[in-house]
Amino acid sequence: MAYTVGIQAAYGDAMPAHVNRRFLLKVRPTGQVGPEHFDYVEEDVPSPLPGQALVRTIYLSVDPANRIWMSDIPSYIPPVGVGKVMRGVGLGQIVASERDDLRAGQLVLGLTNWQDYELADDTLNEIPFTPLPEHLSVPLTHTLGVLGFTGMTAYFGLNDIAKPQSGETVVVSAAAGAVGSIVGQIANLQGARTIGIAGSAEKCRWLTDELGFAAAVNYKEDDWTRQLDAATPSGVDVYWDNVGGAILEEALPRLNLEARIVLCGLLSQYNSFNADAPPPVGPRNFEQLLMKRVLLKGFIIFDFARRFPEAQAALADWLSAGKLAHHETVVEGLDRAPEHLSDMFAGSNVGKLLIHVGDPD
Ligand code: NDP
Repeated sequence: MAYTVGIQAAYGDAMPAHVNRRFLLKVRPTGQVGPEHFDYVEEDVPSPLPGQALVRTIYLSVDPANRIWMSDIPSYIPPVGVGKVMRGVGLGQIVASERDDLRAGQLVLGLTNWQDYELADDTLNEIPFTPLPEHLSVPLTHTLGVLGFTGMTAYFGLNDIAKPQSGETVVVSAAAGAVGSIVGQIANLQGARTIGIAGSAEKCRWLTDELGFAAAVNYKEDDWTRQLDAATPSGVDVYWDNVGGAILEEALPRLNLEARIVLCGLLSQYNSFNADAPPPVGPRNFEQLLMKRVLLKGFIIFDFARRFPEAQAALADWLSAGKLAHHETVVEGLDRAPEHLSDMFAGSNVGKLLIHVGDPD
């Protein structure tokens, strides 16, 4: 990739501190997202004005939602503008502040975006930056994973929508990913029997051997639907949908009466999101929702903002009691962010995918 070679040839690993490396959205993708959809630029580091603080990115979260935000289909948040910096959730450190409520050295969570430096300005930021507690007893990365949007998504989807009862069967797609791996473990803690669907034998082994899933099915194997039948002899009471598409179509006929579907994501379709194209075909067996009196509910984690402390407390308790395992795939370098996003859709990650951009002072 021309921009990567250019960055590395110019600086090797050490970037000058006065440069703000940024990825701008060059063009809206019409298919699989890739480096060709971004422009790499280097700009001066901005200086904070009164009411602003300068945030340096430490970790950047790579999320399937990045691909949603690049398209201009109707959504829950405005699309990233063409020519604008790519939106991204991150953890950063305040390096200079002209705000009373933020001071240099503090660690903050927010939309650092795909760049080294962002200005924390509540009148400009789409989501205000939130300071982290001063003395964190967990690794920094957990604040973007199990204790961040990832873990909280699992928590609220299960507690408020799925409500699994003891002994019920919960099937989770993209089960070895960030959200899915937490969903399965919390459902286990709630007494459910958890079945994961993931894209490799190794991921399936991780789910059963390390995370306590009762069974796991590799959806890339030819006989995966027969494996799913064998793993769900009593049908499916909760289907946690991270992917939509063909896996959703296989889940629907296996649902029991009064089953619940948590519509968390549709990532198998994101790469076809394009406002100028016909929408993807819906599930062909949609009628199963009627026949089985199924509840299907979509949700967006931001809807639960006021209850974040509740989720964080519960997740922290499970973590410290050793009841919740959390895996992170941490990759190096902001300069490869576009490739990391593309690779995620090919299954590169186990658990939460994060880019390490820099170290805190
Ligand atoms: P993941 O960590 O699960 O990463 C994506 C994984 O999905 C890949 O590793 C890959 O694993 C799997 N995958 C990729 N393409 C397909 C496909 N076509 N069919 C099946 N699996 C596929 O990401 P997250 O945990 O961050 O997100 C999971 C879902 O949750 C997404 O849909 C996301 O948008 C949604 N989400 C929703 C939120 C909300 O508020 N509603 C909040 C956060 C996330 P494999 O090797 O198994 O294929």
